[in-house]
Amino acid sequence: MMIEIKEIFAKKILTEASGYLDVGYTHSLNAYSGCAFACSYCYVREMPIQKFRDVPWGQWVDIKLNAADNYRNEMQKLRKKKKPVRLFMSSATDPYQPLEQKAGITRAILEAMLEQPPDMVQIQTRSPWVTRDIDILQQLQNKCEVLISMTIETDRDEVRRLFAPYAPGIKQRIEALKKLHEAGITTQASISPVLPFTPDFPQSLIGAADYIWIDTLIIGDGSMGRRSARLGMPGRFAEHGFEKWYEPNLHLKVEKYFEKWYPSDRVRVSRDEALSK
Ligand code: SF4
Repeated sequence: MMIEIKEIFAKKILTEASGYLDVGYTHSLNAYSGCAFACSYCYVREMPIQKFRDVPWGQWVDIKLNAADNYRNEMQKLRKKKKPVRLFMSSATDPYQPLEQKAGITRAILEAMLEQPPDMVQIQTRSPWVTRDIDILQQLQNKCEVLISMTIETDRDEVRRLFAPYAPGIKQRIEALKKLHEAGITTQASISPVLPFTPDFPQSLIGAADYIWIDTLIIGDGSMGRRSARLGMPGRFAEHGFEKWYEPNLHLKVEKYFEKWYPSDRVRVSRDEALSK
């Protein structure tokens, strides 16, 4: 797939948290705009950043060249105001998408964090490439709370290929999470969105993930399923005979199932789920 790549200078790198991020985080941080992983269910497809773009989602990426400098400046201001800084990295891109290998924007931001650590940073990715930065993450963990959250929607790679053919393979993601865990970094497997999985899925994450996060296309798209519906997800599930995996209460069933292998305080569900209980 051809990707249109632009180098840009962004005005800001930290965006005040709102919506589902409003609980637990103060800001989101997106090192890039756009995402080459092009997941078919990605809710960003339905957001203004894509709606006003001519090039389809997954086929463009803007590299924010000044991201690390922006981080330093914005952090200085926030610290002057004695504000807490709890970062979600990233809400609308993947910080370790393929371009990162060359551009190194995420790594540069992490280096800036070593100088000016936030109170907490959660790195959300689908990419095994995050293991490149184990050295920095280990240092950062001594300065602030760090959580590496690897999205692992299913343990069935053939299902992953149906919905996210350009994203990294499941086996590689689990191996990467294990490597991070063994390096002493706090890890989470984010089953987000839940895709049909085998009964062995929870066991395959033991020794790799300290925590489990559960989100579905209904509770996790920021609009209680409306964005996922506009993206045609109910039809895509039905097409493959996965209707049972598109129920409104799927997250509760998955939570219960994972709690057979993980202590309940290690299994977390998204905010919308908490509201709908
Ligand atoms: S990796 Fe995340 S941001 Fe990128 S396309 Fe997939 S869901 Fe969207």
